[in-house]
Amino acid sequence: MTGESPSEACVVASGLRKSFANGGRAALEGVSLTVGRGEFVAVVGPSGCGKSTLLAILGGLDRSFEGEVALFGRELRAMSEVELAALRGSRIGFVFQAFHLLGHLSAQDNVLAPTLFERGHVDAALRALRVRRAGELLDQLGLGGRGGSYPAELSGGERQRVAIARAMLMEPELLLCDEPTGNLDVATGEQIVGIFRELHQTTKLTIVAVTHEESLASAAGRIVRMRAGKLESEIAL
Ligand code: ADP
Repeated sequence: MTGESPSEACVVASGLRKSFANGGRAALEGVSLTVGRGEFVAVVGPSGCGKSTLLAILGGLDRSFEGEVALFGRELRAMSEVELAALRGSRIGFVFQAFHLLGHLSAQDNVLAPTLFERGHVDAALRALRVRRAGELLDQLGLGGRGGSYPAELSGGERQRVAIARAMLMEPELLLCDEPTGNLDVATGEQIVGIFRELHQTTKLTIVAVTHEESLASAAGRIVRMRAGKLESEIAL
């Protein structure tokens, strides 16, 4: 993209503040965070300290906040909804605690869900490429042969792997994960952590993961600790 240099930070957030309409303490009280390209950052802290709120703002899912966020060198505020949606769809992958798979679609079609927005705009060759990539991702994540299964037929760990494949389909540069192991037992969570670790090591993917889990945090290169809407400390691993 024009105006971007390869060394540019992936995310630059400064002075983020956010209050919800129901009053009470602000969810974010002046958070600044820079994430370099290729970094794996874990954001940890007690429940309610503002981690999910921060992640939603960083991913352009929540636009009602004070402060500034630049993604890949572009100010979020300067983007229209359409531009932001295009950026989210092509350069950012999201993985959530509750998987958010579509129950009426097979695993393969869930992985292909990001292409629903492209329909009518892509030619047959690109469509075929996406379908092939969906199959490769399912294979790579240990779900070869399960592409025809529906979410209700899959275990929690398998569902999360489908969700990770979906997040990776468009080859994003940034993966934002909100408690991705939070609904899984310890052993399954460890497998998912292993997947993030491998994705980070084998691609140039930047990962920001909000988590309670020690094992996920220890897979990161930097741990940022939040408390009561503020960044409390950070350590590089
Ligand atoms: P965490 O992810 O660290 O558990 P959250 O970002 O979800 O924390 O929440 C931070 C604060 O904002 C909490 O006090 C929470 O109750 C409040 N909050 C989060 N989302 C909403 C919402 N949609 N409406 C009202 N308050 C909210």
